[in-house]
Amino acid sequence: MRIDLHTHSTASDGTESPTELVRSAVAAGLDVLALTDHDSSHGWAEAAAAATEAGLTLVRGMEISTRHEGRGVHLLAYLPDPSYEPLDRELRAILDGRSTRVPAVVERLRELGIEIEMDDVLRAAGPTAALGRPHIADALVTLGVVVDRNEAFATLLGAGCPAYVDRYAAPLRELIPIITAAGGVSVIAHPWGRHLHTTLDRDDLAKLRDLGLVGVEVDHQDHDAEIRDRLRAVARELDLVVTGSSDYHGVGKKDHPLGCNTTSPDDYARLVELAAEASRASGRRTPGVVAR
Ligand code: AMP
Ligand code: ZN
Ligand code: FE
Ligand code: FE
Repeated sequence: MRIDLHTHSTASDGTESPTELVRSAVAAGLDVLALTDHDSSHGWAEAAAAATEAGLTLVRGMEISTRHEGRGVHLLAYLPDPSYEPLDRELRAILDGRSTRVPAVVERLRELGIEIEMDDVLRAAGPTAALGRPHIADALVTLGVVVDRNEAFATLLGAGCPAYVDRYAAPLRELIPIITAAGGVSVIAHPWGRHLHTTLDRDDLAKLRDLGLVGVEVDHQDHDAEIRDRLRAVARELDLVVTGSSDYHGVGKKDHPLGCNTTSPDDYARLVELAAEASRASGRRTPGVVAR
């Protein structure tokens, strides 16, 4: 069984619609796919319809923008009820922050002499529910300013770059219990990718587990072999679920093909069982998911 638990569609900053993503997943030989768009469950219904037709198991999830001790941390939330009021409130605040940040970035770019308009970004963004820097990057590619998203992030949009603007993210310590109360489970995405191992060390992960964190994404392209070994050992010691995934964004992210990392059937089964427990305890149901 091939299980990929972290992917994006055009509902956030992936380049394939949920239907196209499901078809790509089948073509890649996957049996289980989680759709984890940024800060939104917008793509779930379409992905579910396509998955039913294709005979693929869909896991409804999202990748939520959080903040922990001043640093950005991505939290994968699987099988929550997004209509649970405290969760809905956080998601709205994050999406509001996204919508106000993008015009501020466009303004910075214009001050830098780049003739880009909000319309260019909105055209690039298409049907997204989570407007973001990748859409600005795509507009910059269309305008011929950069060759790809990577160059846009490296030279203009990334933290520390001239057009960088911050935005709201949910407090991680508050969000984890909210996900549990929404009937879902929390997994930290790429915890030691880039410079994040300085943000979340073993003791931080232990404390987050006490707040309800159930897993960490170990097998991810942002982790080299040595990081994976060390993080896997910490996860085993803390009895956290270990996940592996592609973080596929269609053509929007290089070197992240579907199924390039996968989650073991045992870890997947445990994740689903923990979500079922959270759902029983909270009385909250994931829309479209019956009788667990
Ligand atoms: P935002 O959500 O607007 O803060 O933009 C951050 C998102 O952009 C990340 O979650 C990634 O999905 C994507 N991203 C970050 N760096 C790059 C890069 N170098 N190339 C392509 N996509 C990136
Ligand atoms: Zn993304
Ligand atoms: Fe991420
Ligand atoms: Fe992601």
